[in-house]
Amino acid sequence: MFFAFARKIWIKRDDCTGLSTGGNKTRKLEFLMAEAQAEGADMVMTQGATQSNHARQTAAFAAKLGMDCHLLLEDRTGSKDANYNHNGNVFLDHLHGATAEMRGPGLDMNAEMENVAADLRKTGRKVYTIVGGGSNPTGALGYVDCAFELLNQANQRGLVIDHLVHATGSAGTQAGLVVGLRAMNANIPLLGIGVRAPKEKQEENVYNLAVKTAEKLGCPGVVSRGDVVANCDYVGEGYGIPTPGGIEAINLFARLEAVLLDPVYSGKGAAGLIDLVRKGQFKKGERVVFLHTGGSASLFSYTTAFEFGETSSPQTTK
Ligand SMILES: *Cc1c(COP(=O)(O)O)cnc(C)c1O
Repeated sequence: MFFAFARKIWIKRDDCTGLSTGGNKTRKLEFLMAEAQAEGADMVMTQGATQSNHARQTAAFAAKLGMDCHLLLEDRTGSKDANYNHNGNVFLDHLHGATAEMRGPGLDMNAEMENVAADLRKTGRKVYTIVGGGSNPTGALGYVDCAFELLNQANQRGLVIDHLVHATGSAGTQAGLVVGLRAMNANIPLLGIGVRAPKEKQEENVYNLAVKTAEKLGCPGVVSRGDVVANCDYVGEGYGIPTPGGIEAINLFARLEAVLLDPVYSGKGAAGLIDLVRKGQFKKGERVVFLHTGGSASLFSYTTAFEFGETSSPQTTK
């Protein structure tokens, strides 16, 4: 699962988690879907942005387990692009057999979902709801597990990790990782590159979830506030809106390593990584692991963000 990118940068390939086109939500869903099954659910529901990777992985997991899946998708970007609204993850949601309904921006989406679930339960459905991003203590256990796996892999090959970097959004990935690293006494600084909220808010969200996750794991108090560090300088205009740095990172990874990033998450995470390398925050000789959280399915909904990506007029030259 490791992939050597340059001399001192390694990629942990959670874009290759196996379901559908992969991604980090699959690890959280291993725990969440088990809980759904244990509760006897016949349907799962979750919510996310139009191009939610989490929604698509939930749809894929439900298909695999023979459960129904219903999605609530929030129009967070206002994009009218046909590919954005129908291709990429949206196409895959339907391909995996999920049903979906849209919501305008700015609603309390978890509350919206609970309302729809309550109506479905009245008709006899056994609905298990999953919060946005699968980011509750149950889901975050998937990333506690990932921290253990990463340390084992590093130990097996004698790799000392100086930094671990990844894109952070709904906070479950970073919360699980920080708990896992602390519980294992691993002294590896973890840096989340934000894709939506400002730094203070993002760190607070991660910390609060980490506290609850540590309790669930049986290691209360293992994480302190100072362990949670996010850099939210690479969000750009907002969630789901591509940035020049993110597009540069996607192009670099595709052309140098044949690794696919995405404009919403992993591209912005890698943009932060690249910029911090250039600025010398990661020093020469230090070994940095970039956790690739997936997202490549959304590339096909963002083709117009690339200079060759104009879909209306095919180009034969250049
Ligand atoms: C959801 C997601 C993230 C962020 O993970 P969180 O656990 O929500 O913080 C990062 N990258 C990709 C591709 C994602 O889909």
